[in-house]
Amino acid sequence: MAVQTQEEVLNAVLQSAQLPTLSNVASRLITITSQEETTINDIASLISKDVSLSTKLLRVVNSAFYSFPQPIGTIHQAASILGTNAVRSLVLSFSFLKPEQTNSTTFDYARFWENSLFKAVTARMLMTAMKAEDSEEGFVASLLQNLGIMILARAYPDQYPKVAKMLVSSDSAVKCTDLEKQIIGADHTYIGSEIVKKWGFPETLVAPIAYHHSPHEYPGESQKIRLLCQVVHLSDMLSKARQSKNPEEHVVEFRHLAKQRLGLNDAVLANLLDRVHTEVEKNAQFFNLKIEPQKSIAEILQIANAELSVLNLSYEQMNRSLVEKTVKLELLTKELEKKNLFLEKLAHIDGLTEAYNHRYFQIFLDKEIKRADRNESNVSVIMIDIDLFKPFNDKYGHQIGDQILIQFSRLFRESIREYDLFARYGGEEFILILPDTELNQAGEVAEKLRAMIAGHTFTYEHASYHITASFGVASIKPAADNFGKNELISQADNALYESKKKGRNTVSIYSSKKKWFGR
Ligand code: GH3
Ligand code: MG
Ligand code: MG
Repeated sequence: MAVQTQEEVLNAVLQSAQLPTLSNVASRLITITSQEETTINDIASLISKDVSLSTKLLRVVNSAFYSFPQPIGTIHQAASILGTNAVRSLVLSFSFLKPEQTNSTTFDYARFWENSLFKAVTARMLMTAMKAEDSEEGFVASLLQNLGIMILARAYPDQYPKVAKMLVSSDSAVKCTDLEKQIIGADHTYIGSEIVKKWGFPETLVAPIAYHHSPHEYPGESQKIRLLCQVVHLSDMLSKARQSKNPEEHVVEFRHLAKQRLGLNDAVLANLLDRVHTEVEKNAQFFNLKIEPQKSIAEILQIANAELSVLNLSYEQMNRSLVEKTVKLELLTKELEKKNLFLEKLAHIDGLTEAYNHRYFQIFLDKEIKRADRNESNVSVIMIDIDLFKPFNDKYGHQIGDQILIQFSRLFRESIREYDLFARYGGEEFILILPDTELNQAGEVAEKLRAMIAGHTFTYEHASYHITASFGVASIKPAADNFGKNELISQADNALYESKKKGRNTVSIYSSKKKWFGR
């Protein structure tokens, strides 16, 4: 449903059964005070007809706030001392500020009037501080500045709570009036001022209600009304400090604008800020309003600062521990990856010689045979067995034998191509897998390695040792040959056996025709 125009909203509100009504006395008072021929006597006799209103009025007039030298005993006396405007304002205040019986789940009347009272008291104090006339007009104008909110909330009980909700969840730059226009079609400054205009309120009250959010937009010429708009605006600003997470911001701006626009000095403002909460409590008593105990502005600022520092601290701490945890997690993950890689590798590596182990040799050879099959290439293997290693061990001891195995393995690993695989087949037997290598090439590699070992001087703890090894070479072209991995291994083994037979320190190449290639 498209939102209504503001005129449509106004009409709907005026026809709504929810529209609050003025008391008879208040309504009559407004009418007669707008007539020039009305006298103080007329006003006094109208008010005196309402006993309860008269009593309240006298109580306020005799309160410390006015501090008249003599007690005021009659409404007539009060009216002549205070003047028409003040009396009218007080009557209006009483007409609205009464212990609220309305219970509502969507609108918190108690809080609304408490806030309104705070604003009203602030406005009156500002006007008193400026020694302006008719501070009661400031009071009632400020008290009723948000009347439009109450009216809209009553007439639009389903939509209005959305405004409040959005206001809470959005940042402070979002204006209440904009949300009202968006959701309902008219804002509370328009509705409030139009309604009180219909009730016959004087311009001194209508304009401040209309311009309390933007006092500079007041288009009229009246200095008095211009000032009232400013005062009402400022009272609203100070009131915001009571609900804000950052009250200091509002208090600072309040001071600044009160100095700049109302010409008040620091001392006067400090005094006002010191007293406003107690004044609010006193006024609540005059109006029989039950309100929460009021915190002083200083207390509000202190609490907010404390909360802010707690908030900052925990945020900082949270942040720090979060960073720490993330870093730790990253380190752990990296370490784990490294460990996993290491473990994986470890599972494939022989513990003593750091050559690949037998298990991995099998896996690797399977893969290389498959690849060679696809590529129609050869895989060659060289089986290597250290010569007469048993006598070596017997002569030098197992520990030195181990050292020879370690150094032997390192020599091989350093001599082969990157994609070759050197593995410990078992004991002092090793095997080399040479992918993409034909039999004769593999034979040449074996010969080179044989010569390398035979010519190498192994050293350990200042002693030197010499060993030789025997080699058996075999090759497979899986795409052409009709034998498999096991046959290949046993061919290499047979060739190695052949080398041993030939006197060791020899390379033999397996041939189905039993022609051996040797040294
Ligand atoms: P051949 O030339 O015929 O191969 O003679 P060999 O003595 O090397 O052969 P044999 O198979 O009889 O003996 C192998 C020896 O290798 C037995 C064992 O002491 C030694 N050996 C096997 N594994 C290890 C090891 O891990 N450390 C040490 N120190 N010696 C080992
Ligand atoms: Mg041996
Ligand atoms: Mg052996």
